[in-house]
Amino acid sequence: MKIIAIELTNLRLPLDPPFPAAWDPEPRTSFDATLVEIHTDDGLVGVGSGDAMVGFAEHAHRFIGEDPASIARHVRTLETISYHVGRCWPFEAALWDLIGQASSQPVSVLFGGATDRVPAYASCGTRREPAAMAEVALARQSEGFRAMKLRVERDHHEQGIATVTAVREAVGSDFGIMVDMNQAWRMPGDIEPATDLPGARRMADALRELGVLWMEEPLPEALHGDLRSLRETTGMRVSGGEMIRSFPELLDTVLDDALDVYQPDVVLAGGMHRARTVAEVVMARNRWFTPHTWSNGLGLLANLHVTAGVGGGPFLEFPFDPPGWTIERRDFLLAEPIALAADGTVVVPDRPGLGAVIDRDAVAALRTGGIRIGAEDV
Ligand SMILES: [Mg+2]
Repeated sequence: MKIIAIELTNLRLPLDPPFPAAWDPEPRTSFDATLVEIHTDDGLVGVGSGDAMVGFAEHAHRFIGEDPASIARHVRTLETISYHVGRCWPFEAALWDLIGQASSQPVSVLFGGATDRVPAYASCGTRREPAAMAEVALARQSEGFRAMKLRVERDHHEQGIATVTAVREAVGSDFGIMVDMNQAWRMPGDIEPATDLPGARRMADALRELGVLWMEEPLPEALHGDLRSLRETTGMRVSGGEMIRSFPELLDTVLDDALDVYQPDVVLAGGMHRARTVAEVVMARNRWFTPHTWSNGLGLLANLHVTAGVGGGPFLEFPFDPPGWTIERRDFLLAEPIALAADGTVVVPDRPGLGAVIDRDAVAALRTGGIRIGAEDV
């Protein structure tokens, strides 16, 4: 099997009403996605999405004529590309989709086949007042979720603690609560300083008392010593890693024992093949592996396959926070959106590859541009 063409399609879904993402100072009025499609001489088409694939087109010729299954070669090539331009990991997801289709196996089976479903946590994207957040948490609980992640405002820790307290009182002690501090990285142009270690420590003490499962990205991602100290002195589980750019940096984070919970997003931070290695090391050290999944439905699917394949968990992130972030918005690329099963899990599609069914009408309607690179461009 050989790659004969690569297609990138840029899509834009208008968001009306806008989505006020907690980690972005600017409310979002549109949601952009890039669909990657790899065509082979066997007539198979592999799909992937997640990062915007900025700068990939000028390097696409490096893959034309190659066997999609040469994963080690492709991952190393993508690493050289990602050093200079965007995070082009959706291309690797599309390769795995092809390998799965060609071998008639779901990608999760190729990644270890540990399970075919993972318990989901509702990942909230918006901040709210305590009473409103408690109401939202009760709604998630009644929908079948067994855990939920909340956002709190940077430098408003008292308010954040009040919110977590209200949610805990509403949902009871058996419901998992995670709290994302979003201090590891910044959106472009956001130059506000991060929370410092003493501030993070006070917050961690309070969250531990409220039975919070993990505290996410409490400090900048490179401060391994501070992160480890935070974990050790407070006894609060600390998570992170969603945007760590390279495999060596991610590996250093693990070897420095900076975190309890590792969350590399396979379509944003290092890709699927590397995530599997990290997951095996993390789990061998009795830490948790559970990726970040905030891109779109196809990106969520790639993370689901890796998590189920390696047996990660205990929960998988399920971005869902209506009305700002609905399944329809998140999965607008998919003809079959990813739903929560009755048992509170997300089930891996049993079709070969990633098992995605692309909504071609949505792609046609929302297309803003794109490019196709074929043998004639090499
Ligand atoms: Mg996060």
